[in-house]
Amino acid sequence: MSNGISRRIEAFDGVGVITRYDRPTGTWIFICIHDDTLGSTTGGTRMRQYPEPADGLTDAMRLARGMTHKWAALGLPFGGAKAVLATSRPLVGEERTGLLERYGRLIESLGGIFATGEDLGTTPEDFAIITGQTSFVHGIHPETREKIDPGPFTARGVFHGMQAAVGEVFDGGLEGRTVMVQGAGHVGGRLVDLLHEAGASVLVTDIDGDAAESAAARVGGATVPAEDAYATDCDVYAPCAIGATLNAETIPLLRCRLVAGSANNQLAEPEDADRLHDRGIIYAPDYIINAGGALAFALLIGGETESEVLFTRMTDIGETVAEVLREAARSDESPVTAAGRRVERTLQEARGASQDD
Ligand code: NAD
Repeated sequence: MSNGISRRIEAFDGVGVITRYDRPTGTWIFICIHDDTLGSTTGGTRMRQYPEPADGLTDAMRLARGMTHKWAALGLPFGGAKAVLATSRPLVGEERTGLLERYGRLIESLGGIFATGEDLGTTPEDFAIITGQTSFVHGIHPETREKIDPGPFTARGVFHGMQAAVGEVFDGGLEGRTVMVQGAGHVGGRLVDLLHEAGASVLVTDIDGDAAESAAARVGGATVPAEDAYATDCDVYAPCAIGATLNAETIPLLRCRLVAGSANNQLAEPEDADRLHDRGIIYAPDYIINAGGALAFALLIGGETESEVLFTRMTDIGETVAEVLREAARSDESPVTAAGRRVERTLQEARGASQDD
């Protein structure tokens, strides 16, 4: 194992890392188990090429930590983990199938301490192969065995989270508010429709001009060129495209009161939470507001299969966002700080309870 990899594993603040080198494909497999205080660990599987395999390990550790936050913030009985398949080249056909089968058997051999699902670079077709080797895959409907698309749940969760945040910031509903949705993909596209139904006026921006046009046309909204997204007047900016759009360059440009969207890792660096707070812009922490898909999968594992019930439970996201924003407002601090405290509280209580047993 290279020095870079062993040093990073030694420095990991989590439970541990399962590593496997898949010789036939030259792929490093990293399964990072961050925290199992709340239950068995679960998180997606990302497949991509990194400059160095050790960069894949670092990514997996960061993402695993994020999953611990996501589960704990919502009080769900799962621990945080994430897997990365750091490939040496793009894999297709039999090579890809072979890797996924061996990966599936590795997950099965862990006996359930880790369950997984799709993430960047892995597809429903990949998961059809993995599911052939292990039952520890999440997001599978227990009766139909169909793989569930988390996008609609994520969009609904963001909608409820935004609705709750608007209630805290403007003392009213979404009706008449202007929302800029950045990224009209799986999540953003559906969010545009939900916002329109709630009476908001929607601006859409996407580097794919056709995607922006068609979403905007559906709801009688306007499009905004991608480069003007940050400096355009709106009540709410909803980042639903890529990470790190909130940074030292963009935050001074923003002309909104609230940021509430689905993208992962919206802050480029921790200091950006304070930059937003100093400008009086309220930020709904990404790992809470975008947790709708994770919440739906957790409910499925718990035996809830009615899609109407699953969608209704997305209001939990709204309640959690409102609680965090209220706590932050009381202490005049960034919602990121309040959310972090909520996570720590949940973990500490669970640790205390397990010591009492
Ligand atoms: P997607 O790929 O379907 O859509 C992303 C859209 O953003 C595309 O239309 C793309 O053209 C656009 N885009 C990319 N870069 C852009 C840029 N610089 N400016 C403007 N538009 C840009 O992805 P998705 O599934 O809708 O996910 C959106 C975001 O939400 C991602 O950050 C994802 O990690 C996060 N997220 C998604 C889910 C889910 O259930 N799909 C769950 C949690 C978090």
